[in-house]
Amino acid sequence: MRIRKGDTVKMMQGKDRGKKGRVVKVFPKENKIMVEEINMVIKHVRAKRENEKGQRIRKPMPFNASRVLLVCPKCAQTIRIASKVLADGRKIRFCKKCKEVI
Ligand SMILES: [Zn+2]
Repeated sequence: MRIRKGDTVKMMQGKDRGKKGRVVKVFPKENKIMVEEINMVIKHVRAKRENEKGQRIRKPMPFNASRVLLVCPKCAQTIRIASKVLADGRKIRFCKKCKEVI
């Protein structure tokens, strides 16, 4: 998976199409990501005691990373990430459009 925590991504599908958000969590095994303000659900939490109130909590749900494109922090365009391995073995990611390392 090429998307990392902290990246800004743009949703390309579904009801949140066109929305941008920051990645808060990645799940590499499932190829899923969790993004602020995208794929939000409302969870109802029931009161545990009689004098407590039930709550509704909005939270983002993880979804498949293939549904988003990364927003390049340098050129602000939506991009597919390219990566390569340097001579010293380090892996870098770069923007295919502006060629900046990101
Ligand atoms: Zn770029």
